[in-house]
This record gives sequence, structure tokens and C-alpha cells, in this order.
Amino acid sequence: MDINIESETIARIWEWWAKKGRSEAPRRYLGASVAGHECDRYLWLHFRGLFRERFEGRMYRLFERGRREEEQFIAELRGIGCEVWDRSADGQQFSVSALGGHFGGHLDAVVRGLPDAPKTPHVAEFKTHSDQSFRKLARAGVLDAKPMHFCQMQIYMGMMKLDRALYLAVNKDNDDLYAERVHFDRDYFKSAMLRVRRIIEQPCADRCAKRRDDWRCKGCAAHAVCWHETGAVFSRQFPWSDCRSCCHATADVEGEGARWTCRLGRTCVIGSACNCADHLALPALVDADVDTATERSVTYKIGGQTITNGLANGQFTSEELAHIGREPLEQGVIQKIKDVMEGARVVRQSTIRARMEAYAKDVPPLFEGSLKEMRQFMNMQCWQVTERELVDGIGYFAFDSGACMSVDEANDRAVVQSDVPF
Ligand code: SF4
Ligand code: SF4
Repeated sequence: MDINIESETIARIWEWWAKKGRSEAPRRYLGASVAGHECDRYLWLHFRGLFRERFEGRMYRLFERGRREEEQFIAELRGIGCEVWDRSADGQQFSVSALGGHFGGHLDAVVRGLPDAPKTPHVAEFKTHSDQSFRKLARAGVLDAKPMHFCQMQIYMGMMKLDRALYLAVNKDNDDLYAERVHFDRDYFKSAMLRVRRIIEQPCADRCAKRRDDWRCKGCAAHAVCWHETGAVFSRQFPWSDCRSCCHATADVEGEGARWTCRLGRTCVIGSACNCADHLALPALVDADVDTATERSVTYKIGGQTITNGLANGQFTSEELAHIGREPLEQGVIQKIKDVMEGARVVRQSTIRARMEAYAKDVPPLFEGSLKEMRQFMNMQCWQVTERELVDGIGYFAFDSGACMSVDEANDRAVVQSDVPF
């Protein structure tokens, strides 16, 4: 008999789950299920769609198992004579929504007729636990063992105007069950909703930790974007990075449909790349200290230099900042290039490579000057050449500063490009 836990079949099943799970569209609102997260910054980044959790296939299967357990709990509650409402008239889960649709959640069920309190309707929350987690829950209760679940129930009770919740949990190892009736706490609810509003409305939120290696940050899915570890000075790292990372966008909490408003009167793009030239990066997402700010630009101190996010000549668009690491900006290299060459802009390394390859075919370069101008410019720098190539009179030089230059002596033409990691 072949016993092989690493079989190709299992690997393919995990792949299938990973593909299926990762293709689900991300939520466009802040969910009640995460509202009790201890870190404001996590919730803020989450709400603005600035990171996305990607799980391995096994985890997506586990989530599905949690959903299946909900059906079993409902059948069991009905089996002992309770009334259970788990779907509205249109067959959908009951949902709650607030703050213009920017906050909401889906209830597992509302149940009445519990043997412990036959007349009182309860918000029902069903959860699965590992053995370790279940033991802690049984020992400490839901408030201490699972504060996020507690918060979720308080929010559902407050929004549904019910004052009891039933927390029903199963130990996945041995099918042990745990039930706890939770009373509504109005003050807790109010303070949770105020916090949610603050996170939705504000252009920034505090981290729960002062150091990136704090135990609370270990394993946090938002770690890279929170602590500016994406390799770029502005953490706009995803293809769907949209208006939610722009200073001009605000969540419309008085309307409906989770709408966003652009202060410049444009139509906000949510859920796919906005590609808007006027995008002004939220300072919380920029790995530098704010020096000054105007309506249309923000100037940062970075090392001994200053750089400005904006559209004017010599300034950096958000798109450019998303391609540049700290070092070249601290050295002032790219700013000097911009100051010397009007209209110079920074692009992705892959774009540069492609353009370098196409250079001999006369594709328009990013920016250019005569060899004399270029020598003057180069005299201002102290760059060391790290790589050079000469093919048919076209030279390519890479520098330790993160810039690269191509030189066409025959045509008295030189091009400098940034070559920084993205
Ligand atoms: S890395 Fe730490 S501070 Fe940042 S969002 Fe996560 S938990 Fe909060
Ligand atoms: S300026 Fe552009 S990126 Fe910013 S909110 Fe308006 S449309 Fe979106």
C-alpha cells in the first residue's frame, strides 16, 4: 500500500484551493469580523486595500470547513427545537452595514428558543477551533480567548438591536462543543463603532507597536507595507493600488454603496489601478518624514535631502515614488537628474531594460542630453561604474548609485535612467 502524504494529487488539490481562494475579489469595506483587531494601522491598511492576505491552499480549505460547520450548527439548533433565521427573504445571509456602506458584516444567524433562555432572540456566531485554541476558550471565555470574536458579536448585537449573543464553537480535533451567552455592552459597542469611524475617516492610523520586530507584528500580513519593506519609498505595491492611497480621496460615510469622493472632482477608482497622474500619496505610506504640505504636493525630508511628491517639474509623482528605494533619494542622485533634465521621470527597472534593448531601434528615451551636458552632470556625481557594455558604439553603464546611462558617441547623445530596485 502506498502511503504518501506528499502525493501529486494532494499537491494539485492545494493548488486548486489556492487558485480559487486567491481569485476571490477583496472586500471594499471594513468587516465587523476584523474590527476587534488590536492594531489601528492594520485596520486602516486593510480598509484602504493596501495589502492582501494570500494563504496557502490548505488554509482556504480550512475556511470552507468553517463555513460547513455553520450549516451543521444551524441543523443542530433546529434539531433541539430552536427557531433559527440564517437567510433573509432573498436567500442571502443577514448583513449589517454602516458608515455609508464602508463598514459591515454578515451574521451567521439569529436564534430563539435556546434551552437556557427560551424567549430571548440571540445573535449566533459559529466558530471552529484547534484543540489548543478550544482549550483556551473553555478556560478563559470568549472575551479573553477571542477578543475579535467578542467584538464582532457586540457589533452585530448593537446593529441588530439585540441584547444577547450565542457563541457556539467546535473543537476540530474531537468535536467537543462550547457555548457561551454574551450580554450586550452598550459602552463597548459605542467605543468600537467610534474606533471604526475614525479608521475609515482618517488619513492615517497608529501602529500598535514601536518596532517592526515586535511580537505583535510577527506574521502580520500588513508587515511589509506597514514598515515600508516593499523596496520602494512609497508602498503602492499592488496592481490594484487605487484612489484609496491618495490624499485627495475620502470615504463618503453619509451616502451609501461604500463610495469614495475625490477632492479634485474626479471619479474615484476602487479595486483596480487608478493610474491617475494627480495621485498624491498618503504620507503614512511614504518612508520619509513630512517637511511641508500644500493642497497639491507634499515635501519630505529623506536623509539630508528633500523631495516633493507632486506634478510640477522636479517633483516626483506617486508612480515614480513607487519605483524608488530610499538610498538613491537620500543620496540626492535622482533629484539632481531631475533638476538637470527637465521632464526626466523614473520608471520601473523592467521598463528601462526594455528601453535599453530598444534604444538602438530609436525608441524615445526617458530623457537625454549632449555628451558635454552629460559630462558636466557626471562631474557632479561620485558614482562608481559597476557594469559596462559596449555594443556597436552604444555604451551602457550601471552605477553603484542605482542609476544607469547609455551613451551613443556617434550621435552625441546620452541618456541617464534610474535603475533602482522595485
Ligand atoms: S505590522 Fe504591526 S504595527 Fe503594522 S499593521 Fe501589523 S500589527 Fe500593526
Ligand atoms: S486625484 Fe486621482 S488618484 Fe487621487 S482621489 Fe482623485 S482620482 Fe483618485
